[in-house]
Amino acid sequence: MTKLAIVTGAGQGIGEGIAHRLAKDGFAIAVADINGKTADKVTTDLVNDGYTAKSYHIDVADRERVFELVQKAVADLGELAVYVNNAGVAFIDEIVDSAEKDIRRLLDVNLLGTYWGTQAAAEQFKKQGHGGRIVNAASLAGVEASALQSAYSISKFGVRGITQAASKELAKDQITVNAYDPGIVRTPLRDGIDKRTAEIKGISVAEQQKNCLSEISLGREATPEDVAKVVSWFASPDAAYITGQSILVDGGMRYQ
Ligand code: ADP
Repeated sequence: MTKLAIVTGAGQGIGEGIAHRLAKDGFAIAVADINGKTADKVTTDLVNDGYTAKSYHIDVADRERVFELVQKAVADLGELAVYVNNAGVAFIDEIVDSAEKDIRRLLDVNLLGTYWGTQAAAEQFKKQGHGGRIVNAASLAGVEASALQSAYSISKFGVRGITQAASKELAKDQITVNAYDPGIVRTPLRDGIDKRTAEIKGISVAEQQKNCLSEISLGREATPEDVAKVVSWFASPDAAYITGQSILVDGGMRYQ
């Protein structure tokens, strides 16, 4: 029987890359995104490539809908094997200028969305009784907080926290919980970050991107595929003994 991988935020960027990679690895994919159009597009691409996939329109900040997502996807596509808490948002502002509604929304999506996903996936894995894999999107910004990204950074510090706590609680059920910490990945989210950062710093977007590039030891930005490879490994039999970890996928930025 095909095993199911649910990927949130799979409509574009890193999540799209993860959906394609896990499909290639043999999983049926639940493509879940708040943007129904992009989720449908990724699903069509996967199906056209001969993979099994279905699209789900969902806001991960809505706990009830997250539980519904798991139920629906299992009914549609089979036993849950992997749940990837990838959906995320970002905004750029100094702490003193950050708006309450932006901060609350970001924490609702990035942090609580991951919490709800962990709860819903763990419940399903326990019911099935064969273990499972939860993989969370943390960030380099959740290892070392970034200026202008305070809310994003604390949400990602929190994601590393839920990863560690859940790994301890769920190990007895053979459920592993790990995270990936991307540095700079060229996605629509990153385009927005660079544009707004450049605006605040009063420099051009090209200059902002050049400055970022100079901080990456390997001399290039990550692709969604670079990140997806780590998720693929966390989901594979080879990583059965790995839990509570987060892996930097930053081309050496952290330790430059
Ligand atoms: P990244 O660099 O993390 O890939 P993107 O903005 O390119 O960033 O992709 C993030 C994805 O997450 C988008 O497809 C977006 O629609 C999705 N997303 C954002 N917020 C939510 C949410 N609340 N629920 C589900 N998906 C979401």
